[in-house]
Amino acid sequence: MEHDPEALALFTEGYEKILAGIGKLGFDVHDDNFAETARRAAKGFHDLIHDQKQVSVEVEGLLAKTFPAKYTEMVISKHNTCFGVCPHHLLPVIYRVSLAYIPTNKVLGLSKLSRLARLIARGPRLQEDLTHELANILHAQLHSQGSAVYIEGLHMCMAARGVGAHEARLVTSGVRGVFLDDVRTREEFLKLVLAPSNVVL
Ligand SMILES: [Zn+2]
Repeated sequence: MEHDPEALALFTEGYEKILAGIGKLGFDVHDDNFAETARRAAKGFHDLIHDQKQVSVEVEGLLAKTFPAKYTEMVISKHNTCFGVCPHHLLPVIYRVSLAYIPTNKVLGLSKLSRLARLIARGPRLQEDLTHELANILHAQLHSQGSAVYIEGLHMCMAARGVGAHEARLVTSGVRGVFLDDVRTREEFLKLVLAPSNVVL
């Protein structure tokens, strides 16, 4: 996704100040290694925060390309690795996102589900909000019978504070439509998501 020049300039200014702060801690930030660091760091940070106008356009385009549904069975895309930042610390979060929906009359290509998760994740968002936003899109905007989202997030802000690695994983889930109304559908989704993946690949 394209970088916004104004946002990039502001991020670069910010990282220049961060480097000055690092200099106060006894590091030689005038060393060659840091020559382009502020701008590189700004670009890296921008990659974790997409322009929401560009995202809306892409999400709309993605949802517009559907196929007629031949079956109305659960469509599931498991363990998509996505990246974002938390709004409280602006530190990176690595998500493992599983998404499902039951079509009414149209289906998305499978790669579109993972694209959708990767697009929406890139921003300063609470994991809970990311979960609900994905569930809403797959239910309301896709006019499906229901949707379910299960996310595990590895939050750098929690991992870096010295808590054990698995305590730093936050789990959220959201369900809509038939997944909310029918406990068996919900259980089937969770069983598929939580099944050990060493069986197939
Ligand atoms: Zn945080």
